[in-house]
Amino acid sequence: MSEFCSQCSPNFTVDDINLFEIATNLKPGQSESFNCQGCNNRTLFKDEDGNIYLGKLIDGIGKLLPVKIEELKRV
Ligand SMILES: [Zn+2]
Repeated sequence: MSEFCSQCSPNFTVDDINLFEIATNLKPGQSESFNCQGCNNRTLFKDEDGNIYLGKLIDGIGKLLPVKIEELKRV
């Protein structure tokens, strides 16, 4: 089973981490962690206002970056 997220999977399959689907299913205040092998994406978090944040591990430090849900769609 591959563990790449939908932003970096070279050959996206159902086994991969579908960021758009995770973000869609998150309830406000909830977060979901995953472990992408291909990039620094580690967490998705939805705040109480429904804003989505993508947690990345950058130089060993976790950073939460605001994203629009449309940006998580597979291009
Ligand atoms: Zn990735």
